[in-house]
Amino acid sequence: MRALPRLLARVDQDELVALTRDLVRIPSVYRPGDPTANEREIAAFVEQWMRREGFAVAIHEVEPGRPNVLGSLGEKRAGARCLLLEGHTDVVTEGDPAAWTYPPFSAELRDGRIYGRGTADMKGGLAAAMIAAAAFPRAGVEPPGKIVVGALCDEEDRMIGARHLAASDAGRELDAAIICEPEENELCLEQRGVVWARFRVRGKMAHGAMPEAGHNPITVAGAMLREVPALERRLRKRCERSKYLRPPTVTPTVIQAPPRGAGVPQSNVIPAFAELLLDIRVTPGIDADGLRDEIETLVRAGEVAVPGVKVEWEAVNAFRLATRVDRSEPIVQAMSAVFRKATGRAARFGGVPGSTDGTILRMELGLPIVTCGPGNRLIPHQVDEYVEVGELVEAARIYVASALKFLESA
Ligand SMILES: [Zn+2]
Repeated sequence: MRALPRLLARVDQDELVALTRDLVRIPSVYRPGDPTANEREIAAFVEQWMRREGFAVAIHEVEPGRPNVLGSLGEKRAGARCLLLEGHTDVVTEGDPAAWTYPPFSAELRDGRIYGRGTADMKGGLAAAMIAAAAFPRAGVEPPGKIVVGALCDEEDRMIGARHLAASDAGRELDAAIICEPEENELCLEQRGVVWARFRVRGKMAHGAMPEAGHNPITVAGAMLREVPALERRLRKRCERSKYLRPPTVTPTVIQAPPRGAGVPQSNVIPAFAELLLDIRVTPGIDADGLRDEIETLVRAGEVAVPGVKVEWEAVNAFRLATRVDRSEPIVQAMSAVFRKATGRAARFGGVPGSTDGTILRMELGLPIVTCGPGNRLIPHQVDEYVEVGELVEAARIYVASALKFLESA
């Protein structure tokens, strides 16, 4: 750790703020069908920045206009480790720009905060990772292993960027990852999992005055909704309690009858179809089969309400299970060990309320992940999203110190 003071000296607040603002000013909202609304421009910016700093850069075109940018420093020689600092380049929509105090892509700097869409989620974290890694060549320190900064696409939707990385040679080479998502710089070792279960309820269309001639799918959807609290209770029993995560929740988010594209709602018509969507969040302790069984139980409770009605369901965007990483993992040990040196305070542990790209890397590769990054964890996706400059700088210092410690400890 002799190189640490030299590395930390290369984390410059003004430069980090400027880089974050540059990233925020490139709107990278993904809008399907619009060939200009994707991660192409921001990926090109990140690529150029990394090349200037001496990173070896690989571009993986996951889908047209939607690249993963992987910038690496150092080598993974025999016995050495490879650490990923992970961020995503896409952001969610800004919504109504008039609702924002400052224009959402202006990256306004006021009173120690940068405001704008993506400041916290998560261009600030990505900028901190870039600056942290670049500290090595700038300080003339050869990384004692390999550092990869991954700027991935599509975290906010299907996570195709993380899935692509997990299936690639670059993914298989990794030994651990720090997911730089906004978690107030806590060391988060657990993440809740999520399944969006979409139910398609098929009945039989009929006149509202003669309901006996049809099979009403709305009645079945209602029966399923009544079962939701029971499903939630069962999940709470099956999943482990967690100090850092709220317990499992089952939340109805969409109900439509008839669903879009399956007819026009009319006061006197029993529709043929109903659609119901449940947002199911779980803590560690249940696997995909266990979740499927519980969802099937809900389906059967609905179907018995109206004989003749059939319920089919699917998981939108596949299952994302809850993740947990043990404190004995080398990446956790490394981060805990350097935290005070990097920040001047003791580490706080925490949990991630939703899923991240780390969920995919954990599920697909078994990779030990720690989610830790700058930004209030409640602020993502809100109007007037911001990141604190102090937290940004702290994050970059945590990343550079953790990378050095983790790679040196191989
Ligand atoms: Zn994010």
